[in-house]
Amino acid sequence: MRGETFIPLLAPPQAQRGEAWWFVFRGANLLVRKAEGRAHVPFIESLDELGLAPVRSQFLGVVGAAHVYSAECDESVEPPADMTWAGLRSLFGAIDDDTFALAGRAIQIMDWDRSHQFCGRCGTPTERKLAERSRACPKCGQVHYPRLAPVAMALVHRGDELLLARSPHFAPGMFSALAGFVEPGESLEQVLVR
Ligand SMILES: [Zn+2]
Repeated sequence: MRGETFIPLLAPPQAQRGEAWWFVFRGANLLVRKAEGRAHVPFIESLDELGLAPVRSQFLGVVGAAHVYSAECDESVEPPADMTWAGLRSLFGAIDDDTFALAGRAIQIMDWDRSHQFCGRCGTPTERKLAERSRACPKCGQVHYPRLAPVAMALVHRGDELLLARSPHFAPGMFSALAGFVEPGESLEQVLVR
């Protein structure tokens, strides 16, 4: 899908269904077909073609005329013939940048949907809202949106030197630019100072 713009939508724009991009996950791993050092995301009309019955799926939007979906498979599902489950990080460079970015979007929507089937406030099953990407609780009214985790990251220079840091859980010898998650009420600059 290189070069084609993804347009996020809440519902398929037409009843007609053609081939669609399917980002199918088992846990955090994406279903791909690997060939000659590249990895390919299924571009098919239905997951039936792969013999897969997902736990649930989410319509994400369109690329050109093609619909884009994410889907979640049960942990016990084996990959179809010639395909494999692959961690997204391992696919960096093996799929084009546009597809990789869409895979990142897909896993977040899939994971949010998986994690918000029940209200975090009162435990009631939630319902998908049609007017926005959210799930609402019919009992207490709490609305659950996809969760974003803002991060600040900066590369500090001094002449030809860089200021790096390491965390105790890093692999030996590994250093990083200064980075951290933003806490409630913090500015991006305050994150870096902390
Ligand atoms: Zn509730």
